[in-house]
Amino acid sequence: MNIAFIGLGHMGAPMALNLHKAGHTVRAFDLSPAATQKLAEAGVGIAPSAEDSVAGAEVVISMLPASRHVEGLYLGDDTRPGLMARIEPGTLVIDSSTIAAASSRKVADAGAARGIPVIDAPVSGGTGGAVAGTLTFMVGGEAAHLERARPVLEKMGANIFHAGGVGAGQAAKICNNMLLGILMIGTSEALALGAANGLDPQVLSEIMRRSSGGNWALEKYNPFPGVMAAAPASKGYAGGFGTDLMLKDLGLASDNAVSVGAATPLGALARSLYAAHSLSGHGPLDFSSIIQLLQKQP
Ligand code: NAD
Repeated sequence: MNIAFIGLGHMGAPMALNLHKAGHTVRAFDLSPAATQKLAEAGVGIAPSAEDSVAGAEVVISMLPASRHVEGLYLGDDTRPGLMARIEPGTLVIDSSTIAAASSRKVADAGAARGIPVIDAPVSGGTGGAVAGTLTFMVGGEAAHLERARPVLEKMGANIFHAGGVGAGQAAKICNNMLLGILMIGTSEALALGAANGLDPQVLSEIMRRSSGGNWALEKYNPFPGVMAAAPASKGYAGGFGTDLMLKDLGLASDNAVSVGAATPLGALARSLYAAHSLSGHGPLDFSSIIQLLQKQP
């Protein structure tokens, strides 16, 4: 299949690479030359522009930071037309970015007006899942469009869920990430308390992992440096899922909670804690660095 892939960051690059390895013809694009160069070195085809990447594509996939990037790409702005004007009718568009459900619906409406099916398919599983091709996709859109996307999604993920109509994938994703943001703070708080009591974080992590405090952060993404060699905490909190991206997702959850009248007090507190962490210069670091807010610094 001819696939255009736009957005080659921490997640997009390994996802595009998995499609290339599976035998698809990938035309990838990113605004950052450093991002495209890495993929070019791995043998993936690079397009000089987003417009060029979609020429002749049967499927277009985007993996961008936030709503404004996705709306800017597909819908354009005062200075340039969006990609929707360039994509051939009938081409399937899969947006895997985590954005507002309302933005997903705007993009899908613009696609529908030109006969271009659009699904929102945000992911969970982190950069490790993206590299291993074991991501979880939460899909919003028509079932028939998901079935068309499925063979492509299966090359990047292990679990594919149909959450509902357009925007439902985003709604599921913010519920999950709100929980993850809260869990990471709780896990960090417990590990910092243990360390302040002289406990070995490795031993404490193992105790809690096998006890009722067990959770994904302890299982796969320990925030304490040195406990888990592959986790961002053991690599100076580089790579992984940025604090600013978690802050964005908690903002989406807060806005959504207001719009549907839901009570999310811990989500709101978590958003404030990540905001404080970001303001003190930690925005680009992995979100598990939130433990530094709770620890005595040297
Ligand atoms: P990232 O910042 O590493 O990468 C985003 C890339 O998009 C960058 O390389 C940037 O240059 C590029 N970009 C921005 N605007 C563009 C445009 N108009 N055209 C082409 N390229 C453009 O972000 P990421 O960590 O890869 O995350 C991408 C999305 O996936 C976000 O919505 C994030 O919330 C979500 N997500 C991330 C993770 C994670 O662990 N990193 C996990 C699940 C979901």
